[in-house]
Amino acid sequence: MIRVTIWNEYVGELKYEEISKVYPKGIHGCFEDFLSVNEDMEIKSVTLSMKDQGLSDEILDDTDVLLWWGHHAHDEVTEDNAERVKNHVLNGMGFIPLHSAHYCKPLKKLLGTSMNLRWKHGESEKLICINPSHPIAEGITEPVFLEKEEMYGEYFDIPKPDDIVFLGWFTNQEVFRSGCTFLRGWGKIFYFQPGHEEYPVYYNPQIQKIITNAIRWAAPVNRRKTNYECVEVKDN
Ligand code: ZN
Repeated sequence: MIRVTIWNEYVGELKYEEISKVYPKGIHGCFEDFLSVNEDMEIKSVTLSMKDQGLSDEILDDTDVLLWWGHHAHDEVTEDNAERVKNHVLNGMGFIPLHSAHYCKPLKKLLGTSMNLRWKHGESEKLICINPSHPIAEGITEPVFLEKEEMYGEYFDIPKPDDIVFLGWFTNQEVFRSGCTFLRGWGKIFYFQPGHEEYPVYYNPQIQKIITNAIRWAAPVNRRKTNYECVEVKDN
């Protein structure tokens, strides 16, 4: 059983009607709905306003893969909580930051670059798989067309990814590395660009399939609970 935790800052949905009308149950509610059909997954949601911002050791110890959606409140996540998420990833927890979570504190700590990019609202996107044998692309046989999406453009200041699975092409002629994987410590990370909160991107069945695949890919193979220390090897 893969224990999936959806972390959603859950700020925009409560503040702006243009977001709540797209996601009346919150973005995490939409994720719960499409992920709960998977019999190999156990799904729970946490949000910024919960105790410990939903990021206690108790919750993270009970998480195999953490999804993260944030935008308005990156700065409100405490350093301690961001550091704790980073350490859980280094110890094997899978991590899937979505869309504007390119700027979330744990991902910045894990990747070490500015994560800057260029953006523009209201374009269409064609999401093209450039790595068809990758497990995250399983079953995605055609490009994914999103009628309305926020353009994210290069240069995207990330370290060189281990794999680029999807490339985004936008109607204003920009391209973006939209689906990238990184290994950090024992943990697997998949950054996925689609999902601007004013457009119904996470209802798209192909987007849902990619996120579902990414969870199975990022799940720990043999999760280690403790930090690996530098040890001297003695003669027998
Ligand atoms: Zn956005």
